[in-house]
Order: sequence, then C-alpha cells, then structure tokens
Amino acid sequence: IHPTAARRPYPIVVQSENTSYTSEHIISKFTNRGTDVIVADGQYKVVPTAKEYEFQTAVKVPKTGLMMVGWGGNNGTTLSATILANKHNIVWHTKSGIQQPNYIGSLIRASTVRLGADPKTGKDIHVPISDLLPMVHPNDLVLGGWDISGAPLDEAMKRAEVLDWDLQRQVAPHMAALGAPLPSIYYPDFIAANQEARADNVIPGKDKHAHLEQLRADIRAFKEKHALERTIVFWTANTERYADIIPGVNDTADNLLAAIRASHEEVSPSTLFAVAAILEGEPFVNGAPQNTFVPGVIELAERHKSFIGGDDLKSGQTKLKSVFAEFLVNAGIKPLSIASYNHLGNNDGHNLSAERQFKSKEISKSSVVDDMVSANALLFRPPQEGAVKGSKEAKGEHPDHIVVIKYVPAVGDSKRAIDEYYSEIFCGGRSTINIFNECEDSLLATPLILDLTILAELLSRVKYRNVSDGQTEFAPLYSVLSLLSYMLKAPLVKPGTDVVNSLNRQRNALETFLKACIGIEGSSDLLLETRIW
Ligand code: NAD
Repeated sequence: IHPTAARRPYPIVVQSENTSYTSEHIISKFTNRGTDVIVADGQYKVVPTAKEYEFQTAVKVPKTGLMMVGWGGNNGTTLSATILANKHNIVWHTKSGIQQPNYIGSLIRASTVRLGADPKTGKDIHVPISDLLPMVHPNDLVLGGWDISGAPLDEAMKRAEVLDWDLQRQVAPHMAALGAPLPSIYYPDFIAANQEARADNVIPGKDKHAHLEQLRADIRAFKEKHALERTIVFWTANTERYADIIPGVNDTADNLLAAIRASHEEVSPSTLFAVAAILEGEPFVNGAPQNTFVPGVIELAERHKSFIGGDDLKSGQTKLKSVFAEFLVNAGIKPLSIASYNHLGNNDGHNLSAERQFKSKEISKSSVVDDMVSANALLFRPPQEGAVKGSKEAKGEHPDHIVVIKYVPAVGDSKRAIDEYYSEIFCGGRSTINIFNECEDSLLATPLILDLTILAELLSRVKYRNVSDGQTEFAPLYSVLSLLSYMLKAPLVKPGTDVVNSLNRQRNALETFLKACIGIEGSSDLLLETRIW
C-alpha cells in the first residue's frame, strides 16, 4: 500500500496543560495573538493583543458520504475510480511499468507539516497532515450523487478518457456496482447549449420548489440507506453562467426561499443544491466558478448554522499564480502584466467554450492577485480617496491581467496552460518569465475534491468558545468555511472580510488552525535556537 493511502490509528498525544482528552473530545486552549494598528499623522500606533479561546474536536470520525453533483463527469468518475482502486489495492500496467494507486496531490494525505523537533538530535519531525487530527480516510467515503446524464458509472468513466485502460478494465466491475447517478435538475439556460445531448436523466417538471424537495429527499434517502452520520454535497457539475443578483429575489434568505416557491428563472440548479444541503444540515462545497452563493444562500446557511465552501477548484494555473505573483511582489518586483492562456479538450472545455460560462471562469481566475497587489503600496499606487468613481485613480494601480480559454478536442483531458509574467525590475529593467504547464486536468482536480470533503467533515466537528469574552458554551465555526481556501480559486469568505489568495498564507492558516485544535503553536519558522548562542 502506498504511504499516502496507508491507514493509521490517530498517533498524536500532546502533553501540556493546554490540551486535554476525554473519550469524546480533544479540548485545547489557544491564545490568538494579533496587533491593533492605528495610523495617524504618519505614525503607526501598535498595540499587541491576545484573546483566549478553547477548541473542542469530536474524536469519532463519523460514517461519511460524498454526494457529487455531476457524478458522471470527468472529476466525478475519476474520483470514484481512484478511490475504488485504492480501496481494493488494484495495481495496473502502464507503458512504463506497474502503477500502484495512491493519493498523491492531496494536501491532506500526501503532504506533511513540521510537528516539532527531537529534543536529543534537534532534527525536525514531520507528520502527514492527516495525522494532526482524526480525519475520514478517503477509502471509507460512501459515494453517490446526481447527473443529468444517466450513463452508469463504468460507462461514464470510459467516456471521460482520463484513466489508463488497464485500470479502467479492472475497476469497471466496482464502478458498475455503484450504479448510475440519480436524476438531476436541468435548466438549459444555465449551462452551455452544447451540453443538451447529455441531458437524458432529469427530474421532470418546472416547479423549482418540487425540485428542491426532491433533492432533499435524495440526500435523506442516501443517508438512511448507508447509515451515514455526515454527507458532503459537492458541486462538480458543469460551470453555470452567473445568476443575476436581483433585489427581492436572491438577496436575502427569505426572498430566495420565496423565489424558489415561485420558480423564479434566476434560481440556478447549483443554488438549489446548496439550499437543499443547507436545509438538510449537510455541508455544501462548490467546485465550479459560478455564483452559487448568492447573498440569500449565505444568509440561509448562517440561519441554519450549516457549512458552505467555495468557489472553483484551484488546481493548476491559478494555484501556481497564487504562488508566483506573490513571490514577485514580495521580492519587491513589480508585475506589469500577467497573460494566461489555456486550451483543453474535455467536456469542461466544451462547456466553457460558450461565452457566458467562460465569463464565470474568467471572473474566478482574475481576482487571484488582488490581495498581493494591495498589500504593497510601494509598487502599486493604492486607490485614491475622493477620486472620480470608476476612474483609474479610484481603482488603484494593478497589473494588466488577461485570461483566455480555448476548446481543442484533440488534447482531451490533458490541459495546456501558458502564463507570461512581464515585470519591472531595478531601475527601468524588464523581466519576462514564461511558464508552460501540461497535465491531466481531472487528475489535478480529484485530490482537491477529497481534501475539501475531508476538511469540510472535520471542520463540522470542531467547536470553539471565546474565553476572553466569557462564552461558556462551545459553538460551531462560522458557516462559510474559508479555511478551505487553499483548494479554491475564488475563496468564499465571511461577508465584509478580506479574501486571502496567497497559497502560502492559506496553508499557514490551515496548519495553524489544525495545530491550535491540539493545543500547539503553529509558526515554527523562527527556529530561534538555531539563531542564538
Ligand atoms: P465534466 O463536464 O466532465 O463533468 C460535469 C458533469 O456535470 C457532466 O457529467 C454533466 O452531465 C453534469 N451536469 C451538468 N449540469 C448538471 C446538473 N444540473 N446536475 C447534475 N449534473 C450536471 O467536467 P469536469 O471536468 O468533471 O469538471 C467539473 C467542474 O469542475 C466544472 O465546472 C469545472 O469547471 C470545475 N473545475 C474543474 C477543474 C479541473 O481541473 N478539472 C478545476 C477547477 C474547476
């Protein structure tokens, strides 16, 4: 068994007054240190702050289901087949030898964090992230879902043309045993017209409230059939066009529920799935770029203390951008333009070849450098107060940024991405860096779906209380799970708070949080003992 797929009992014991264990919980004390900064007359008045919190994590990993919307697509079938390959330890022949299944590409299963150092040797000890807290093993996920295409899972896997034939051949009986996706809701106006031929498995009628009730009944039936304690609902269906935000329709929770009852045309399928999951108290994650989370959905999730996360899997080009643009700006180099071009030939690419669906992707890919740019006022002139609304001065300085996506059927799932970073360097010099990236799109995306599922389940088991404010009861985390940002192109965050796009900061946040839940401090890069006598 590959080390990333190996199953281990929970291995960590923290011996400290900050951490206690009961048969049901890990309870930790955590001091959240910050700094308040008041800027006045060119001076920064800085006040260090410290607030005491406690975290309580349920140790029992619940029996967990994953219901994918778009189960019969490239991501859905690739995820199902690779989990089955791991579960049944299926090895297969490729032209270069025998291949073992694994979970490479999963942050949770295949990356490590520094836990600390051996006191005798001083050498670092690293552990897989999956060892930090009890987490669901991917092999244990019960798989299900919906698709507007009724092809059984084995046929759908074949149609996707992602996996090696020898793997497909062996995993096909297990895929066939999963059956076919449940019928789904299909509103043709939201996805590209070129998808119509696939839509042979749809819930009949035009009554959106009846559709919502059907989805809720599907979730309940799935949970009951498999005796599940938790089910993650995951949108990995086609990218939809943006829904218009209309006052009175989708701007508040009550308006949205009324709009669903009235079958309003601007309620998208993905929004209906999100509402269904929220009302069933199950986490919903949006792996595509459209604005599923209209304000009414966020308010509804808050009201029901349900969990939501999104948007759009950050798999290739954008992941690199959230590292590379930050590297340039943090090195004091000024990117003047970032030009990104992609072509791909899978069904996602076909859908994105339509203008309105491309637009959703363009928006989600575009905002990724915003926070890095606005953090450096030495290189980029900040927005000017009092400037004419909409003017260049009011928006502030920003690198030119363009994103192009083209559909080229011949390359199938093997996406090609080219990025040019054109930057200003010392005293008027110029630097041009080009990056060419080629790889199977679905094999990048699949581990992210797993990570998001595993984390969403875990975060639904963590509670906190703010000791400094005298909070006595433990409460669930806030509904929008922004700790999922590492895997998402356009992270959804608590309304009114800043989006963090930097991959490094996103990973640090997650690592610090998971360590806080077991009562240890996150940051270890100071390594003070190596810097002093
Ligand atoms: P795909 O086209 O192969 O699969 C999508 C599936 O969704 C299809 O089987 C389709 O029939 C189904 N579908 C469409 N509308 C539906 C509905 N209303 N209900 C249920 N099923 C529906 O696409 P994919 O490559 O699997 O990608 C899935 C999504 O993930 C896309 O939106 C894509 O943009 C997004 N995404 C993918 C990647 C990646 O690297 N593969 C990265 C980021 C985002």
